[in-house]
Amino acid sequence: MSIETDKVNRIIPYGRQTITEADIEAVITALKSDFLTQGPAIAEFEKAFADYVGCKYAIALTNGTAALHLCAMALDVSEKTRVITTPITFAASANCVKYCGGEVYFADIDPKTFLLDIHKVRELLQKHPKGYFHGIIPVDFAGSAVDLEAFRKLADEYGLWIIEDACHAPGGFFNDSSSKKQKCGNGNFADLAIFSFHPVKHIATGEGGMITTNNKELYEKLLLLRTHGITKDLTKFKNSAEEVPQGPWYYEMQELGYNYRLTDFQASLGISQLSRADENLQWRKKIAERYDNAFLDSAVVTPLSAEGHAYHLYVIRSKNRARLYDHLRANNIFAQVHYVPVHLMPYYKQFGFKKGDFPNAEAYYNDCLSIPMYHSLSKEDQQYVIDMVLSFKG
Ligand SMILES: *Cc1c(COP(=O)(O)O)cnc(C)c1O
Repeated sequence: MSIETDKVNRIIPYGRQTITEADIEAVITALKSDFLTQGPAIAEFEKAFADYVGCKYAIALTNGTAALHLCAMALDVSEKTRVITTPITFAASANCVKYCGGEVYFADIDPKTFLLDIHKVRELLQKHPKGYFHGIIPVDFAGSAVDLEAFRKLADEYGLWIIEDACHAPGGFFNDSSSKKQKCGNGNFADLAIFSFHPVKHIATGEGGMITTNNKELYEKLLLLRTHGITKDLTKFKNSAEEVPQGPWYYEMQELGYNYRLTDFQASLGISQLSRADENLQWRKKIAERYDNAFLDSAVVTPLSAEGHAYHLYVIRSKNRARLYDHLRANNIFAQVHYVPVHLMPYYKQFGFKKGDFPNAEAYYNDCLSIPMYHSLSKEDQQYVIDMVLSFKG
C-alpha cells in the first residue's frame, strides 16, 4: 500500500482522545485498589483540577450534563426561573434549566467571536422589569474565553447568577480590565463553572464532568446533591436523636439529590490526563497557528485567534460548507458542524422559537465547519487536512 492510499484509508476525526501507557497504568492501579467509586482518587482529581483552573472548590461528576443539572438545582432554578444562554452551544447548556422546570431565553451571538453577545443580553434584560430574569449561562465556545468580568458587571446590575459552561476551555483565559489573566472556571466572576471529560474534550475520562466554584455554600449544596441529598455529617443532622434514634450507622437524606458520582478509576484516568493538559494545550495552539498560516491567502475564513484560546474546536467558515463537508468526508476527514442552533431544535421550537429569531447564530450555522483539532493530530495528518481543504474548488 502506498503512503497516499494509506492516508485516505484512515479516518481523521474532528476531535479525539489520546490514551497513554501512563493513563492505562493509572486505571489499572485504581482497579487493583480497594475503591471503585468515591475513593481517594476523586478528592485527588478534584484538588488537582481546582489547582489547574485556580479556584477553591471542585466537584467531580458523572458528566458535564449532570454538572449543569446540579448547578441549576443549586441555584434554585424552578418553574419561575428565567435564564439566558446562547443558541450556539451544545443543547445541554440550555437543557439544565428545563430539567428544573425553568424557562430558557436565548440572545444572539457576536458574529466575530461566535460567543454570546453581551449587548444582545443587555437589550433582552432592558425589555423586562428588573427581577424578571434570574441567570445567564455563557459558553466559552470552541475554547474562546468569555469576558466574564463584563458579564459579572451586567449580572450584578440585574441581580443575576452566572453559570460558565467551560466545557470547551480548560486552560483557556481572558485578560481582565487590569490585564490580569483570568482562567476559565476560576470562579472569580461566575458563581459556578462546569467542565466535561467526554473523549472529544481536552481531558478524557470516558464520561465525566466537574463543577468549579469559590462559593462554599454552593459547594456544600452540590456535594449533597451529587449523592442523593444524603449526609453522614452529624454536625448537619436535622432530626433530633429523641425523634429518630441515631448511631454510627445513621445518615440523613435532606434534599432530593441524584447519584451523579464519578468512579475512582475514571478519576485516576483524569488525574493522569490532567498532568499533560498544559503540554497538550500548547500542541493545540501550534496546530491552530499552522491552520491560520495555511489558510491566510485562501477563501477559507479562519477563527479569531486570542492569547487565551483553548482551541477545543477549530472552526472555519466557507460559503459552500455542505460541499466542503462532503469533499472532506470523501477523503476520510470527518469534519463536524458545531452547532445546529439550539433554538431551532424541534424541542425548543415548541416554546415559540423560530427561524429568524437569532440571525447571527443562523448565519454562522450556515457556513461553519469544525476541522480536525486534537492535541495528537500529527503534522502529516494536519498537512493532509490542509491540502484537502485548499484543493476544494467551491
Ligand atoms: C460536551 C458539552 C456539554 C456536555 O457534557 P457531557 O459530558 O457530554 O454531558 C455541555 N456543554 C458543552 C458546551 C459541551 O461541549
